[in-house]
Amino acid sequence: NRTPVTVIGLGAMGRSLAGAFLDSGHPTTVWNRSAGRSEELAGRGATVAATAAEAIAASPIVVICVLDYDVVHEILDPLSGSVAGRTLVNLTNGTPRQARETAGWAADHGADYLDGGIMAVPMMIGRPEALVLYSGSAGAFDVHRSTLGTLGTARYLHADAGQASLYDLALLAAMYGMFGGFYHAAAMLGSEKVPSAEFAPLVVPWLNAMVGTLPVIAEAMDSGAGADDDSNLRMQLVSFANILTASREQGVSTELLEPMRALLDRAVTAHRDGGDVPNLVELLRADPTSA
Ligand code: NDP
Repeated sequence: NRTPVTVIGLGAMGRSLAGAFLDSGHPTTVWNRSAGRSEELAGRGATVAATAAEAIAASPIVVICVLDYDVVHEILDPLSGSVAGRTLVNLTNGTPRQARETAGWAADHGADYLDGGIMAVPMMIGRPEALVLYSGSAGAFDVHRSTLGTLGTARYLHADAGQASLYDLALLAAMYGMFGGFYHAAAMLGSEKVPSAEFAPLVVPWLNAMVGTLPVIAEAMDSGAGADDDSNLRMQLVSFANILTASREQGVSTELLEPMRALLDRAVTAHRDGGDVPNLVELLRADPTSA
């Protein structure tokens, strides 16, 4: 497969994407707003376009990966006349609503549209462990499946262009919860001068064990049955409050954990024993403060 590919945006991620296309033999054209980002890629055989218009004209498949959707539109809106008949693959992080709006813009101008969420850091691109989620045009995904597969594992989700963003942001939310917990734990131990490197070998197997319970909890959430894990939320609230008290006594900020305590409080108020974990998700979905 020697389909020519264009990559717009040569930040850390765009450079990795372009590099993976070059490594697998795709004629690759690149463009970036600022100069000085393309030299290394040019040395590996990339064609450096002088303008974004020239970059779009070079390939049937145009990958754009920039800071945000405002930038996507800043670059593409003036070039709406040149996208017809091409496949636009937008790998920029954004919201489902932004993805759907951009899909509408592409359809209005005769382009096939795929929105993608990159579940990887730049150094992983080009390897199977780099998962890229896609939604939007199923036809375009089928035609370009092997080209997109050069970036990592390409998984198509749904014809609704917003789905890849929804999954991407949900996966990032889960990741930030894990990181937030780790940062707090490191601060607690650091308050007694325990080096984080000493703590890491304990926290990794612990978190792995807890991650292993997620599929069971997920089944309980979907079926509406109790989690049956012998860990009711009233009991959990007591130990959670102990984390907050101990943290304050150690001079550690509780800002990352307070929202979790507020949610546990709501659950215990709503159910006598707090119910179990699926109740927390129900409460989040019924957030009276959200739009
Ligand atoms: P960088 O900050 O390294 O690069 C940002 C890119 O956006 C550059 O090409 C920059 O161009 C361009 N840009 C910013 N503002 C403008 C503008 N007004 N007009 C034109 N171009 C502009 O970010 P990354 O490459 O790391 O990230 C790009 C996307 O990839 C983001 O949506 C990010 O969420 C996503 N992503 C990144 C990951 C990572 O670990 N890096 C992981 C997964 C997804 P210029 O050089 O001219 O400033």
